[in-house]
Amino acid sequence: MGHMEKVEFVFLGTGGARFSTISQKRHTGGIRIIRPTNLQLDPGPGAIVYSNLLGLDPSKVEAIAISHCHPDHYIDAQIFVEAMSQGGTTKKGTFMGPRSVIRGTESFDSCLTKYHRSLIRNLVEMRPGTQTNIGKTKITATSAHHSDPDAIGFRFSFETGDVGYSSDTEYYPELCSQYTEVRLLILCVLRPGNSTWRGHLSSDDAIRILREIRPEMCVLTHFGLKMISADPPAEARRIERETGIRTIAAEDNMLLSMGHDLRVYPTTWPIDRSS
Ligand SMILES: [Zn+2]
Ligand SMILES: [Zn+2]
Repeated sequence: MGHMEKVEFVFLGTGGARFSTISQKRHTGGIRIIRPTNLQLDPGPGAIVYSNLLGLDPSKVEAIAISHCHPDHYIDAQIFVEAMSQGGTTKKGTFMGPRSVIRGTESFDSCLTKYHRSLIRNLVEMRPGTQTNIGKTKITATSAHHSDPDAIGFRFSFETGDVGYSSDTEYYPELCSQYTEVRLLILCVLRPGNSTWRGHLSSDDAIRILREIRPEMCVLTHFGLKMISADPPAEARRIERETGIRTIAAEDNMLLSMGHDLRVYPTTWPIDRSS
């Protein structure tokens, strides 16, 4: 893999759901992929702030991917569209998401205004199985069972391997078959232990999923307040002990790279990736 460009992810936020978002006990900016493609995934509240604080220029974003129409996943979407279109001066970039996000449904308003929609070059409405390419990166929508019935997850296929992102979903039998042979699995684990909550994953669900998929590594993120109180690193150690799969709890500002190896670099900011 010597000539293949490694993948780098920055966790702009690791909090999720209402009370983590309201209290900002963890940031809620979602995930930025900075290479090989510059993509903002689920820009929740604070994504624009932490992107700038970390030195990750928002105007370099080529694509925005939003999994569903809940505020902890989309609130900063419009300002990222403005960044991607160089302040609205040029129609640019790709914006992908399910119907609820792109067009709205009976229960959800689209997270795009008409103005913001007009700034996007490539608007991709996704259902489970929809694929799109950004440069050499292939992105496939996966299904998720969540309170936004249109919710999706994502499977990213890079030269150095595949990465799954569950987004908000509960466990269901067909979940795992969509992530077979991913190297890295990013799970939104809202709650610790066996504390189940409709539409979300607990640590015990993560154990069940990892036993089926057996990725090289799992990263837990999108923590609710109960998970934060339970200590995410302790939950990650228990999951790793019970599955034998390397598992870590994401930290705000964490950089993760996937080349030959999967490596984690704690809080390294500002990250200068402008060159
Ligand atoms: Zn969420
Ligand atoms: Zn949600």
